[in-house]
Amino acid sequence: MTEVGACGICGSIDLVTLLDMGNQPLAERFDDNRVYPLVLLQCKECQLVQLSHIVDQQVMFPENHPYTTGTNASMRKHFRELAMELVEEVVQPGDRVVDIGANDGTFLSALSGGKWLKLIAVEPTGQARKCRELGFATYQDFFTAGLARKIARTWGKAKAVTACNVLAHVPSPHDFVAGVAELLADDGEFITESHDFASISDGLQIDTIYHEHLRYYTVASLSRLLAMHGLEVTRSEKIHTYGGSFRVRARKARGGLQDRARAAASDLRRLLFILDQDGNSIYGISAATRATPLIHFARIAPFIDRVCEHPHSEKIGSLMPGTQIPVVDEAMLVQDQPDYAVLFSYHLADVIIPKLRQLGYKGKIIIPLPEPVIIGE
Ligand SMILES: [Zn+2]
Repeated sequence: MTEVGACGICGSIDLVTLLDMGNQPLAERFDDNRVYPLVLLQCKECQLVQLSHIVDQQVMFPENHPYTTGTNASMRKHFRELAMELVEEVVQPGDRVVDIGANDGTFLSALSGGKWLKLIAVEPTGQARKCRELGFATYQDFFTAGLARKIARTWGKAKAVTACNVLAHVPSPHDFVAGVAELLADDGEFITESHDFASISDGLQIDTIYHEHLRYYTVASLSRLLAMHGLEVTRSEKIHTYGGSFRVRARKARGGLQDRARAAASDLRRLLFILDQDGNSIYGISAATRATPLIHFARIAPFIDRVCEHPHSEKIGSLMPGTQIPVVDEAMLVQDQPDYAVLFSYHLADVIIPKLRQLGYKGKIIIPLPEPVIIGE
């Protein structure tokens, strides 16, 4: 047993006692009557709530740990819904998914309708056997940065790393999150669910305080921990599990807006430069207000021969602001059939593209942002 002297997230030693529940036995050990202090501390610096004493993991999670996810119908349903969200929004065929604290494989099973995903389970207790039997690549171990490196070396980086009701149990959250960051592909997502401290303070769910739960997160304290390892929360939502939890989705923090804008602009310029070099004609579609800042920031004016407008536009006959690009009737798009046309009103692509095709334009259309995409190849 270790006594906590400093905050598990920010390292501050300014910790105050929030609640003392006395000395208690381990809540899931039916064969061990030893007692340990059960006291909640709160960090004055970052507000994280944590236990004052940490019982050794080997004592808390022995081989015969009895908790199984799959025996609980509402958890099975919950994980089916989470699997659906992953399939719809995050993973593609061939991607790797690592579930940390996979337990009996309930969540990975919900995903495994796809033999098309590589599913990897990390589970320290004997439940790992069930994951192995279900055919998942299984590591019976605690998740650490070291294990993350080993998994990444063997299987490659993961498109999704999931950890539901795990972070509260982890003795070294920084090592854990560093491992998640290391294991995630650059476009990967970390999805994690935690019991919400608000359920304890507002709903008086003091019976969810036990030695296995070392920390009691809020979206704010968890976001702070993730940010310390370059992970940025993109979505958080309240969920019903355990009487009030939250799910957070995070990804590797991207650069600042300036850097991302510059990269997008140079991608577009490079594409148009190459097309131009290859002797293609390139028109613009729509002299909308938003065309001007893009043309100038991406410095693409030299590659655009004409910009087309609908026949009633008063802009026809003028030049695009600050350039020598003439604005012409869109009839010229059909008449000239340029090889490519940059759709500056790409936010209306669903309406404009079918209309242009109907008018008879057969060339390729470039959607310029957020990254250039060529339609009609
Ligand atoms: Zn703190």
